[in-house]
Amino acid sequence: MSSNTAPLVDSGGESEWKPLLEGLLHEHRIAYFSMEIALENDIPTYAGGLGVLAGDTLRSAVDLGLPLVAVSLVSRAGYFRQRLDADGRQTEEPDPWSPEGRAHPLGAKIALEIEGRNVWVRSWLYVLRGQLKIAEPVVLLDTDLEENHPEDRVITHYLYGGDEAYRLKQEIVLGIGGVRMLHALGFRVREYHMNEGHSALLAVELLKVFAYRREEVRTGESPYDIPRVREVCNFTTHTPVSAGQDQFPYALVSRIMDGTADIGMIRRLAGDESLNMTRLGLNLSEYVNGVAKRHAELSNRLFPGYTVHAVTNGVHPFTWTCPEFARLYNQHVPGWCHEPELLVRADMAIGDDEVWHAHAGAKQRLIDKVHTLGSTALDPALPIIGFARRMTAYKRPDLLFSSLERLRALAQRHPFQLVIAGKAHPRDDGGKALIEQIYRHMRELAGAVTIAFLPNYDMEKARLMVAGVDLWLNTPLRPLEASGTSGMKAAFNGVPQLSVLDGWWIEGCIEGVTGWAIGNAEESHNGDDAQSLYAKLGDVVLPLYYNNRAAWIRVMKGAICKNASFFNSHRMMRRYVTEAYIR
Ligand SMILES: *Cc1c(COP(=O)(O)O)cnc(C)c1O
Repeated sequence: MSSNTAPLVDSGGESEWKPLLEGLLHEHRIAYFSMEIALENDIPTYAGGLGVLAGDTLRSAVDLGLPLVAVSLVSRAGYFRQRLDADGRQTEEPDPWSPEGRAHPLGAKIALEIEGRNVWVRSWLYVLRGQLKIAEPVVLLDTDLEENHPEDRVITHYLYGGDEAYRLKQEIVLGIGGVRMLHALGFRVREYHMNEGHSALLAVELLKVFAYRREEVRTGESPYDIPRVREVCNFTTHTPVSAGQDQFPYALVSRIMDGTADIGMIRRLAGDESLNMTRLGLNLSEYVNGVAKRHAELSNRLFPGYTVHAVTNGVHPFTWTCPEFARLYNQHVPGWCHEPELLVRADMAIGDDEVWHAHAGAKQRLIDKVHTLGSTALDPALPIIGFARRMTAYKRPDLLFSSLERLRALAQRHPFQLVIAGKAHPRDDGGKALIEQIYRHMRELAGAVTIAFLPNYDMEKARLMVAGVDLWLNTPLRPLEASGTSGMKAAFNGVPQLSVLDGWWIEGCIEGVTGWAIGNAEESHNGDDAQSLYAKLGDVVLPLYYNNRAAWIRVMKGAICKNASFFNSHRMMRRYVTEAYIR
């Protein structure tokens, strides 16, 4: 069995790349592994919420001076660029990027055995910088090397692309390759953090790293020091249902991984029926958490015998605050970027007019952008409702359109406009059909409600939308939204949320103070939720917007003081540090 032989390493021209890591290797770091990370808007190494959260995690680590090293795939081919035709039919265009010029090549190479072939992996150093003079290294793994088989050169190309076998290969490179690469580069790691199950194979590699030497093991005993691995591993689960978890049949696992890991041992730790990445993460991590209180409760029920803690997600303050509000906070709440808790007093510190004008600026920027993108003319005097996230069935982008008749009647009494955005995963036909359905509704509602659908939702569009709309709408099917984060981004810009009570909103909603709830916190029924949505909009939210400007601004301030001050990634990271990384 080759799993006992030392991994192949080629430290290739160390004198050239070692200086790039100067100052980064002396400290023991937290190694944060994620399949996707939103580093910058135009670096397409992210698909959506999970990647944006990973990016915000790093941005907060930088701001807080926390020594961390992130590991991900280089994803040269990106996720995809969304094109929509006149009927809302989505086609996917490649969205490639070149790490050359944006990141530094590191000469070291490590080898993995995948499907019986040697696959060499190299890496790129992307340096994430914050406002302080601190930098955080991000190691992007890359198999596009001449010495690799053509099929293996593209393993790190397509984010969430390909079939099951392709995904497993990516996860081998991320988890096992990532651990080997950090070691080859000279990073010293004190704790590992798996952001979702995609990287759980890192713990399998650690079992090998920490295995007892042969002479220490008595015949018949396991050579693996599981407690030692658990001690340094932390695992965050983001999926509230087992169907959402990565699972691989063992026939596939054996075919692809035989030379790389001890499959019998994986079987004992990752489930007997299939390799369940969540199960693997749970069994090999001392600290496990879900991403909101309700999600952790649910996970504890889903995984009896394990303790799943709750660390509610947050968003990065500076990244998600529009320039208008950043200016206000700088002036009246100095220090908010480092200590967003200070925003708890923003209501007293900032005048109502200032809040209204800052918002008007952000709203105009969105209106201008919508006009350039699709020539839809939005009226700054009328409220804009925003809805943007991955287009998929459980997020129910169609809930608002359940009854076009009621929607028309609503708009007649209290006119409003809609801005919508979101990509459907290339293989999610249901999600694509939802976009087409929205386009049909747009046509049917022409003249009654102005609606714009912005193509190719990304971080930049998210920044514009969460600040420029007047109300953020969120209508997932309970209990499938583990956390959700876009409503938190809205809060930093004084935009209140109207949302189903799921994920973070169960914690963030104070009715009429930070925003409003659709339905109750129990099970969802499409009919009931639609009724509640129309009633809340027509009887409470829109009348308040039109009839009582001062009261509306009080809710805007409520979102800032009570939610932005709390649902930020600085708080989240401080909790990971004290409860997970330093135990
Ligand atoms: C914040 C964000 C998301 C996640 O939004 P949710 O409402 O949490 O689903 C997805 N995509 C982009 C580009 C984002 O900025």
